Amino acid sequence: MVDLIQKKREGQALNKSELAEIINGFVDGSIPDYQVSAFLMAAYFNGFDSKETAILTDLMMHSGDLIDLSPVQGIKVDKHSTGGVGDKTTLVLAPLVAAAGVPVAKMSGRGLGHTGGTLDKLESIAGFSIEMTIPEFINRVQKNGIAVCGQTANLVPADKKLYALRDVTATVNNSSLIASSIMSKKLACGADAIVIDIKVGNGAFMKTVEDAVKLGHTMIDIGVQMGRKVITVLTDMEQPLGNAIGNALEVQEAIDTLKGHGPEDFVELCLELGGRMLVLGKVAKNHDEAVKTLKNLISSGKALEKFRTFVESQGGDSSIIDDPDRLPQARLSQNFISPKEGYITHLNAMDVGLASMKLGAGRDTKESSIDYGAGILLKKKVGTYVKKGDILALMYAENKEAFQNAKDLLHSAYEISDQKPTKKSIILKTITGND
Ligand code: URA
Repeated sequence: MVDLIQKKREGQALNKSELAEIINGFVDGSIPDYQVSAFLMAAYFNGFDSKETAILTDLMMHSGDLIDLSPVQGIKVDKHSTGGVGDKTTLVLAPLVAAAGVPVAKMSGRGLGHTGGTLDKLESIAGFSIEMTIPEFINRVQKNGIAVCGQTANLVPADKKLYALRDVTATVNNSSLIASSIMSKKLACGADAIVIDIKVGNGAFMKTVEDAVKLGHTMIDIGVQMGRKVITVLTDMEQPLGNAIGNALEVQEAIDTLKGHGPEDFVELCLELGGRMLVLGKVAKNHDEAVKTLKNLISSGKALEKFRTFVESQGGDSSIIDDPDRLPQARLSQNFISPKEGYITHLNAMDVGLASMKLGAGRDTKESSIDYGAGILLKKKVGTYVKKGDILALMYAENKEAFQNAKDLLHSAYEISDQKPTKKSIILKTITGND
């Protein structure tokens, strides 16, 4: 191991058997954390070339369970988001693309930090269960074209261990390490093709478009070497996605979107990602045709019906679709008022995410519980002209003590000035791999 650390420290590439020695030795406990930490730091500075990155992905993917989706007919297209504030995209995309005929067999995670993850959001629907065996999961996809469950305990154990070590050794932010971490999990879940939404901005991992482009190309390259088609879409995470932040609030916004009344930025994102998924799934010839199909599935109510089937098949109370008041509601609410007049020039996603966590919508630690009804509904976002005293946002919580902290964070989140900001699209760049 000392020789391998030294080799990477000197910027040399490692071959398959050398990388296998490190990954396998780390997973079985024969190589200690301190040597892997030193190796990670050497890799952080000197990087991996594209061949090493693909080998690393393959080794990690094969370190645990592999889900075999071959009994499901059709091209299985998965979607992943690198994570942002108010990101309820899976709740809309899964039923929408399933309604178009692309089978959705999705394993999702829980959230730690600002807001809940997809599983937490779904569990805010009474009765909804994400627990099922793999055969049950596959049966549901065969029957309904859609199922979402939690990741199996033994899915990519190499990533679980490596990520925990990267987190405490300041080695998370390296494009090869991030790409191999995400791609190994998607590939282990059996995806034939993958669309990755790389969030860019203050509320995301990637702070600059330049870093995100590098990550996007690294992921596409892994796909090329492993025989899977990958498309990456860079999207704006300077301000939260949509208006709702918080589990039940986001479920409600997802339902509104499936009913054709979604916020503009969120709808634009769902059509872009969904369109790419339909083309990869070969149910549309090109992106424009795919977007047209998706719009029709929303206006005809077919996407909403697929959501109803999905909720019912996983034990959830589907009456929330027609009667959203049946979703969990926070006991208390307060307005957040504009302190002055002018244009909203910035709305810091990270601060809004932290504010919603203070209200009870997210977890501080793995053990913390979530208040499903807690969160924030944004009434005004970037570009809007507001007067002093206008309501900028509504805050929801179980305890009134939570409001003060959240209010302080919202104060620093909103920037208001005389200068009208230029409107920009939420889609920053799509990298298809053919460009
Ligand atoms: N998400 C992951 O799953 N892995 C990383 O390394 C970063 C974000």
